[in-house]
Amino acid sequence: MPINILPEEVASQIAAGEVVERPSSVVKELIENALDAGADQITILVREAGKRLIEIIDNGSGIPAEELELAVHRHATSKLSQAEDLFRVSTLGFRGEALASIGSVSHLTLSSRVGSEDLGGSIRVEGGETVEITELGIPPGTTVRVEHLFYNVPARLKFLKTDRTEKRHINIMVSRYSIANPGVRFKLFQDDQLAFQTPGSGDLQEAIAAVHGIKIAKGMVQVIYEDEYLQIGGFISPPGLTRSNRGEMLYFVNQRPVQDPAISKAVTQAYHTLIMKGRYPITALFLGLPPEKVDVNVHPTKAEVRFEDKGEVFRGVGRAVRRALLAHTPVPEMGNLRGVNLWSGPAPDHSSIRRGVDPAWSMLENSGADLPFGQLPDSGQIPAPLGAPILRLIGQVAATYLIAEGPDGLYLIDQHAAHERILFEKMMASRDQDPPSQALLESIVVEFSPASADLLKENLPVLSGLGFEVEEFGPGSFVIRAVPGLVGDSSPEGILRAAVEDLEVDETPLEGKIEQKIIARVCKRAAVKAGQVLSKGEGEQLLSDLESCQSPRTCPHGRPTMIHLSVDLLERKFGRTGPM
Ligand code: ADP
Ligand code: MG
Repeated sequence: MPINILPEEVASQIAAGEVVERPSSVVKELIENALDAGADQITILVREAGKRLIEIIDNGSGIPAEELELAVHRHATSKLSQAEDLFRVSTLGFRGEALASIGSVSHLTLSSRVGSEDLGGSIRVEGGETVEITELGIPPGTTVRVEHLFYNVPARLKFLKTDRTEKRHINIMVSRYSIANPGVRFKLFQDDQLAFQTPGSGDLQEAIAAVHGIKIAKGMVQVIYEDEYLQIGGFISPPGLTRSNRGEMLYFVNQRPVQDPAISKAVTQAYHTLIMKGRYPITALFLGLPPEKVDVNVHPTKAEVRFEDKGEVFRGVGRAVRRALLAHTPVPEMGNLRGVNLWSGPAPDHSSIRRGVDPAWSMLENSGADLPFGQLPDSGQIPAPLGAPILRLIGQVAATYLIAEGPDGLYLIDQHAAHERILFEKMMASRDQDPPSQALLESIVVEFSPASADLLKENLPVLSGLGFEVEEFGPGSFVIRAVPGLVGDSSPEGILRAAVEDLEVDETPLEGKIEQKIIARVCKRAAVKAGQVLSKGEGEQLLSDLESCQSPRTCPHGRPTMIHLSVDLLERKFGRTGPM
């Protein structure tokens, strides 16, 4: 084929592909425009996860009627005029691409009025073609209506995820910008229902409360830091409050939400030893540095930036977070450690506890057991290779492992993993058939971020099948009235959070998988922990429950529940085999 210059329509669809990946990208660009226009009230209406309609109404500066047509033109922007401006961008937009891109893949109506004018104007664009310009009387500000997104790009439409997932992306996007802009009143409606709103009071903690709930917002640790290179402010969660993924670690560089693995790493490193591996804090950190020290023009959706001196930023963030955490110094919770006090410093890290053995119940206690070594309680029974061996409890070590004698040697059982397995099988077996449920004496109200709230709502039927009694109680609020009987006295809030927490990282797991995943998460949370001293009776119960499991040798996540030291191995290790 000879080289052709692509028709304008094709070229703009290609360009749009970079900027407008999914409905939430439209929401992002339109929010940025409203913010750049100085709006302090932004209302977002979404229908059918944004495929049918995305409408954003702001009270910003407005666009003069005679510039409406320019606004939807590619590379038309009021935010920079010469190349040098690109090196000190202080607005969120600067490429003049968003409206043109969105207009080329949807039906776009842009209506606007500048406060000083009596009348406003409106322009309609369909698939990149201007079809109508009208005058109209509207309040000052701008309304952008995007209908039938991707109607002319079937491939894009096909690749969109379920409505639930696309809605969640929108929720996440709006919550990010509302934390970045506490002075702006955001309202988000999904299919006519208020999904989320912020007070717009200018108080960051109030914006965080709107997203994460008041309790979390109140518990956050403040960060204030400044060096020659940058300023850092905001909030981070205390070590006791973590998530299973990085989804709620937010950073803003000059008010722009960014993703940056280096910043993430600096933050998680600063928490090192304070939180467990695989757990992540909640953050809302604002980095401020002179615009010429950061290049914002390096990513199609402006989600990443490039720092002139990455090392300085990395060190600054690390120091800021570490200092804030040290100043905070939480009081360790001693809980059920019964006199085992090996705690040094604030680290809630079980590795220091594991070294301790509860003196009240050590291996010695069991040494006079009625069965002599080598003789099994039920020696006629030879267990199937992958079933559970019959185990006689000998003791507990490091308040973490049970020691038992089995048919062929010694077994070390990880009490947490084993209990997880037991709960998992019990819960899987009893789901949907009137599972045991324990009513709470006082129901508890728990707040969730809009994204988690959505997930929770979606999965309420699954949860009720497990014995939860949870009901929505207003946007983002849920009341817990009962929890599964199997979870014992674990915190109902923790259990419920655990149930939805991990789902957020998944896109569209199959329905059955979701249920399993929820059950596994709940069990993990409810299972006895490492570092928890068990009574002899509790240890024995655990072993006999494990024996009746179908897959007793691994926890629901696939890690081993037990290690076997065979008599053979022992003999070899003691040099008993071979010629003596
Ligand atoms: P950019 O934001 O990169 O300038 P856009 O395509 O997003 O490009 O917008 C083009 C222009 O339209 C902006 O530069 C601005 O002048 C105007 N505009 C867009 N949205 C709004 C709005 N909500 N309020 C006021 N002006 C707007
Ligand atoms: Mg823009």
